[in-house]
Amino acid sequence: MKNTWDLSFLYSGFDDANFHADLKKWPEMIDEQQALLEADLPVLEKLEKLADSIEALDALSGRVYAFVSMTLSTEANHPVAQQYQDKLSLISNKSRLVDSAITRFVGSIENLDEVIAQSEKLQTIAFALREMKEEASHTIPAEIEPWLLQMSLSGGRAFSQLRGKLESNQMVEFRGKSYPLAAVRGMAYDGDPSVRKDAYEAEIASYKKIDLPMSYCLNAIKMEALTLCKAKGYDSVLDMTLATARMDRETLDAMISAIKEYLPHFRRYLKAKAKYLGHENGLPFYDLFAPVGNASKAYTIEEAREVLLREMGKFTPVMAEFMDNAFEQRWIDVYPREGKRGGAFCSRMHAYDRSLVLTNFQGSFSDISTLAHELGHAWHNRCMAGLPSVLTHTPMPLAETASIFNETMLAHQVLKNATDEERFTLLESSLMESTQTCVDILSRYLFETEVIDTRTDHAMTVEELKDCMLRAQEASYGDGLSKDVRHPYMWACKSHYYSSGLNFYNFPYAFGELFGKGVFAQYLKEGEAFIPKYCQLLRSCGSGTIAEVAASVGIDVRQSDFWRSSLEVVKGEIDEFCALCEK
Ligand SMILES: [Zn+2]
Repeated sequence: MKNTWDLSFLYSGFDDANFHADLKKWPEMIDEQQALLEADLPVLEKLEKLADSIEALDALSGRVYAFVSMTLSTEANHPVAQQYQDKLSLISNKSRLVDSAITRFVGSIENLDEVIAQSEKLQTIAFALREMKEEASHTIPAEIEPWLLQMSLSGGRAFSQLRGKLESNQMVEFRGKSYPLAAVRGMAYDGDPSVRKDAYEAEIASYKKIDLPMSYCLNAIKMEALTLCKAKGYDSVLDMTLATARMDRETLDAMISAIKEYLPHFRRYLKAKAKYLGHENGLPFYDLFAPVGNASKAYTIEEAREVLLREMGKFTPVMAEFMDNAFEQRWIDVYPREGKRGGAFCSRMHAYDRSLVLTNFQGSFSDISTLAHELGHAWHNRCMAGLPSVLTHTPMPLAETASIFNETMLAHQVLKNATDEERFTLLESSLMESTQTCVDILSRYLFETEVIDTRTDHAMTVEELKDCMLRAQEASYGDGLSKDVRHPYMWACKSHYYSSGLNFYNFPYAFGELFGKGVFAQYLKEGEAFIPKYCQLLRSCGSGTIAEVAASVGIDVRQSDFWRSSLEVVKGEIDEFCALCEK
C-alpha cells in the first residue's frame, strides 16, 4: 500500500504540456468572461453563457490551483511550485474583479425570476443566481473595488502576514533551551505534569516580546472589517459574517443560548478532571489538554484502515467501500515528513469526483478519528458529485456536518466494545474536544464581539485585550478553570482572529460540532431509513440557506431545543466521565 497521494490525474508534473496550456488559458478565459459580460446580448442568453463560462473556469482554475497547492502542502520548499503560487494569486485577483462584475450584472436584472423561469439551465442554479442578486446590494462600487483590493494587500492582508511571521518566528525559553512557540504549545498534551506547567509558564512569559505588534495587527484587521462592513452596507460585522454563512441571527442566538445553558455541565467535567489530576479549585489552564488514563493502543495504517472499514461499514457498506477505494486509489497522503505541513485537511476536486486528504498519521486512536473526519469531508464531496459547481459551496457552519458525523459514528461504535479503562480515555478525549468547540469557542465569540465593538471607538491596548480575554474566559469557563491560572494571551496565539476578510471565525465550529452530533442522533432514531435523507442533506448544503438545508431532514436550527438535544449527548458523556472519575 502506497502512503503518499497520487496527483497524476491532474498533471504528470510541472513540465506537463497540459499544465502550461491551462496556465495560459486561465487568464484568457477570464478575459473572455469579461468580454461576454460587456457583449450586447439578450439577458437570458448572456446569463446562460455566463453560467457555462463560470463552470468551465472553475474546473480549469480548480485543477491548476490544486496541483500547485497540493504539491506545496507536502513539499513546502518546492521551488517551482512556489513561483507558480505567486502567479496564481495575481490571476485570482483578476478573477475576483470579474466575479464582482457578474454579481453586479445579476443584481441589475430586475425580472430575474422571470428570466430564470424561461431556462432549464438557469432553474438548476436558481439559488446561486438569487443569492448573487441579494449580494449585489452589498458589493463595493466598481470604481473603487480594484483600489480596495489593492489596499488590502498593504492593509489587512499585510497585518495578517505579519502576524503569521511573528508567530512562526517566536522562540520560547523552556528549561534553558529555545523552542518554537508551536512546539511549546504542543507540550500541553505531554504526559508529564511538570512539563505542561513549565511549558505554559514559558509560553505566557514569551508573549511580552510580541504582544505590542500583535495588538496592532488585531486592531488593524478589525478596523478594516468595520470599514468594509460600512462600504458594503451591512449593519454590523456580525451581520456581514452571517450573510456569508447563509445563517440568520435567530439560529445563532438559539445555539449560543443553548450552549450557555449547558455551561454548568462543562464546568462539572472540568472540575472532575481537575480533581482527578490532583487540583483543588478548578482546572489550571495548562491541564486543559492533559491526557488521562493509560489506554493508549498504537495502530499501523493498515490496522487503521481495517478499523475504519469495519466500524463505518456498520453505517452502510457503501461507506466502507468508499473509504477502501480512497486508500486503494491513493487519495490520502498519510505520514508526516520533512517539508510537509502539519494538521489534516480534505480538498475537493469536484470536476474529477475525487478528494485529496492529507494527514500526519502517527498511530494513535485520535489519528484514526482524524481519518474518519477527513474521509467524512470526502464523502460529503462524493454526495455533491455532478452538481453545477456554483451549488457546491458549502457555508462554513455546514462544512463540518459529514466529518463530525463520521467522528461521532466511529466513537459510538468503538465505545460499544471498550473496557472501562479505554472508555475513560475515549470519553475524556471526546469531552476535551467538545469543551473546545463549545466553551472555548464561546469565549472567542464573546472576546471578538467586544473587540469589534470597542474598535469603533478606539484601538485596544495590550492591557485592555488581556483584560477582555480574561473576562471572556470567566464568562465561559467560570469556576471550571482555576481563577489564577488562565490564558490572557489567547488572542495572540489563535490565528483565527487575524484572517483579513473573515470575521467571527469561531461560532461555525460550535455549529459544526453540535449540528453533526444532532444529525447523528437523528440517524440513531430513524436507523437505515435516514441514510438517503442524510446523503440528500449533504448534497443540498450549497443550494439553500442553513435553515432550509437543516429543515430538509426535519431539523429546526432556529429552536434552542435542537441544540439542547445535541448538548444532551455531551451531558451524557460528562455524567459517565464524572462517575468513572469517582471509581
Ligand atoms: Zn473538518
